[in-house]
Amino acid sequence: MKITMIGTGYVGLVSGACFSDFGHHVTCVDTDAAKIAALERGEMPIFEPGLAELVERNVRGGRLGFTTDLVRGVADAEAIFIAVGTPSRRGDGHADLSHVFAATRDIARALVKPAVIVTKSTVPVGTGDEVERILRDEAPDAEAWVVSNPEFLREGAAIEDFKRPDRIVVGTDNDSAAEIMREVYRPLYLNKAPLVFTSRRTAELIKYAANAFLATKITFINEIADLCEAVDADVQDVARGIGLDQRIGGKFLHAGPGYGGSCFPKDTLALLKTAEDFQAPLRIVEAVVKVNDSRKRAMGRKIIQALGGDARGRTVALLGLTFKPNTDDMRDAPSLAIVQALLDAGARVRAYDPEGMDQARPLMRDVEFASGPYEAAEEADAVVLVTEWDVFRALDLKRLASRMAQPIFVDLRNVYPTEDLLEAGFSWHGIGRGGNPQAVQMRDPHGETVPQAARSAVRQRNET
Ligand code: NAD
Repeated sequence: MKITMIGTGYVGLVSGACFSDFGHHVTCVDTDAAKIAALERGEMPIFEPGLAELVERNVRGGRLGFTTDLVRGVADAEAIFIAVGTPSRRGDGHADLSHVFAATRDIARALVKPAVIVTKSTVPVGTGDEVERILRDEAPDAEAWVVSNPEFLREGAAIEDFKRPDRIVVGTDNDSAAEIMREVYRPLYLNKAPLVFTSRRTAELIKYAANAFLATKITFINEIADLCEAVDADVQDVARGIGLDQRIGGKFLHAGPGYGGSCFPKDTLALLKTAEDFQAPLRIVEAVVKVNDSRKRAMGRKIIQALGGDARGRTVALLGLTFKPNTDDMRDAPSLAIVQALLDAGARVRAYDPEGMDQARPLMRDVEFASGPYEAAEEADAVVLVTEWDVFRALDLKRLASRMAQPIFVDLRNVYPTEDLLEAGFSWHGIGRGGNPQAVQMRDPHGETVPQAARSAVRQRNET
């Protein structure tokens, strides 16, 4: 089958490469000439594990190509995917659909044979109707069906997610379009991935509802983590204790510095705007967005507290900057708010990230970048684990502590057992974990303190 991907970013490039790996012939189009030129040289514009090999194999096999020439790309395509960005619109939080509509107009002018136009970009309910209207206006005689096919891949595991999805959602009420989409996804269908056919509007909403639900789950456990700190309980045990309930499930229950990335922040906001437009408020999602926004700055305050309440002139080393491991994507990463809070408080910030520093540099002009985790920690007053990259999971903690001016470890991802940090000489601060020495000072509502010994005993039992 001949497929064209309009937009060769995270989603367009991964989807295009995977479709070509299934045996389809794919042309990836982008307006960014530098990106296309790099791809033609075999250089990946993004960091995504396994992507370079996948692209190389399919380019060599003659099934995958890149171009800035949309007319050529669209000419003989049977399925044309729109995978351009839909960022938050400046000022009001609505999804900015200008790239989607521009791509639609370009496609309309280039269409020479019947095709399905598939929106893979995350777009608000009703966008498919608007895409269809533009097509009819620009190319009244064209035979084209507009389908919604939202993408659920996660950066960092994008190829695996695309090739082994939990489900494929296709929104259309047109039988011919449905047949073409079955053909596009046949290799996955044979792999038993469920194809869920819905109306176009329903498919558009499924994507936002999924992201809002996952963002809610993360935010829920983050608030429980705050309560854990107040009552001397351990959020990791709470997460396990509730996650084993199959009605809840263990995923997305890792307490941390708040969700970020290229999807959840903008998609929760855009969903709220849709709800506002249709006068059907989503109060739970509203609360999630507020709680998450304030949490990122609160993480800055947590670090300052760990420093004794005054960060002026102190050096803080951040390990990890991207919003999650295995990506170089810095969009809406919690590290951005954390860095700002630290700089505002007068701290010096040094940082290391295995893949994200090129993207981070222009966003963090006052941050010093180090060549590794130990270099970042040199003479620092605190080390903060912000993103749980594998390389930070087995640090030589004693070596790290010995380089620092003051051995304070703030573990925003709860990677390290508290005992390991204490043994290495660190004063530690985690997220929602019992046994924090600071919590010893706290009293319950009856004015009682919880004995430290009792807490340690519980902790030891759990860890054996
Ligand atoms: P991206 O910014 O990485 O890529 C978008 C690409 O589209 C860019 O390369 C840009 O140059 C290109 N582009 C813009 N206008 C164009 C046009 N008129 N013609 C051709 N190319 C054009 O974005 P992304 O992260 O791949 O996201 C794309 C869509 O997929 C968004 O709607 C996003 O919400 C959704 N999505 C993203 C993810 C993710 O993890 N990144 C996951 C699921 C869904």
